[in-house]
Amino acid sequence: MRSLYGKFLLFTVMIMIGSFIIAFLVVNTFYHQQLRPQNDAKNMKIAENVADYIESDQHIDLDEFLSTQAKVGYKLYITNHAGEDQFYGKPFRLENLSDQAVEQVLAGEQYHGMRDLPKETFVTGFFSDEMANTVGVSFTYEEEQYGLFLRPDIKLLFTEIHYLLGGLFVVMVVISLVAMLFVARKLIQPITKLTAATKKIGAEDFSLSLPTNRGDEIGQLADSFQSMANHLQESDELRKQFINDVSHDFQTPLQNIKGYAALLHDAKLSNSERQDYTNIIESETERLSALTKQLLLLTSLDSLTSPMQQDAFSLDTQLKEVIQKYRWLMEEKHIALSLELDEINFIGQAEYTEKIWENLLSNALKYTLDYGMIEVGLEETENDIIITFSDSGVGIDKAHIPFLFDRFYRVDEARHDKVEGTGLGLSIVQQAVALHQGSIEVTSKLHEGTTFTIRLPKLDEALND
Ligand code: ADP
Repeated sequence: MRSLYGKFLLFTVMIMIGSFIIAFLVVNTFYHQQLRPQNDAKNMKIAENVADYIESDQHIDLDEFLSTQAKVGYKLYITNHAGEDQFYGKPFRLENLSDQAVEQVLAGEQYHGMRDLPKETFVTGFFSDEMANTVGVSFTYEEEQYGLFLRPDIKLLFTEIHYLLGGLFVVMVVISLVAMLFVARKLIQPITKLTAATKKIGAEDFSLSLPTNRGDEIGQLADSFQSMANHLQESDELRKQFINDVSHDFQTPLQNIKGYAALLHDAKLSNSERQDYTNIIESETERLSALTKQLLLLTSLDSLTSPMQQDAFSLDTQLKEVIQKYRWLMEEKHIALSLELDEINFIGQAEYTEKIWENLLSNALKYTLDYGMIEVGLEETENDIIITFSDSGVGIDKAHIPFLFDRFYRVDEARHDKVEGTGLGLSIVQQAVALHQGSIEVTSKLHEGTTFTIRLPKLDEALND
């Protein structure tokens, strides 16, 4: 029985049998402790009444009187010293009354077979249709001593109402069993559907039909399963798109390298042409190298949910160090720099925060024309640390803002002819900010400039000391 359905069925039947056995044992104990002596006493009383009645009216027709008693629902046996005996009512299944019991009753004593019959362990003892399972009293009729043995005729006791109750019980058991089977099948059906759905997902087929409209636990399971499948589908599409983009971004510089390397074979090339081609090959190689580094960085950021190491460092110092690296470019483009940096300590992964500043600053420099202006700010509010990078650069059209942080997204390919880039910088920034539980916003106006604002959660006062 490996299926849930089979197990449910097995458990149901086992529970029914088990409860029946337990109920039977309980009733049996009750019978032995309570009912057996009571039954004996009750039947003894009846036997005594019969005996008393016979003794009080010696003109009674004994045969007729006892036959009447038998019709009411008793089995009777009488005997006397002469060994004359007579049965009334239906015959006993077993005629096993001992001589000793007969002698005892003829001697005037009572016989308590219903109470004392030792071998009966089960409640069925009460129904045991044997002569030993009777009560016995003596009576005198026409100066002759008789022994009277009596027990109820069970068949007569089973009246129509008993059959009705028994039938009711059987019908109840059958109906409940069939209903349970039906319910079990209904319960198992959606699980079978879920199993089929897992197989489909395994085969990258995300078109599922799940029982999500149910209000019970199975409906909840189907709901979570559906949203898991949606996520999987989304990330599957992203993965495919990512591979597509990566291949494309590697393909272009590789083709350039291949093309210009082929041209270099031409012996008739002038020195300056040779120099130009070599420069192109060099810059394309650098682009590939930068792309690989950025991809590696993104992958390592993707695999983290919190910083791997917690460095305590000064944010203003780190920002100044990054700016220092780009000083030459600023001077080359005659870009003015304004710094407003508060002294703020931070705990996080310094190598990743450094990447945030590097990317934002290099973008600001890339997309700001000569003689422009860049402002970098660092300040604390009640709850956050706020870092801003503003430039008076080319700005970004509103339509592009929602996609800026997507991988490989570049605003306008045409304007990038002059500007190097991979479209990965802002994705790295966003990942590194998220890793530090921060947030990033961008506001921009075309031809006027762009501002990136980063909020990082502030440290406890104790840590900031
Ligand atoms: P890229 O390597 O192309 O710079 P990023 O992910 O860093 O890639 O940026 C995505 C796009 O956002 C860029 O291609 C650029 O068009 C735009 N962008 C980013 N920073 C700025 C900025 N400071 N000013 C104007 N445009 C920007």
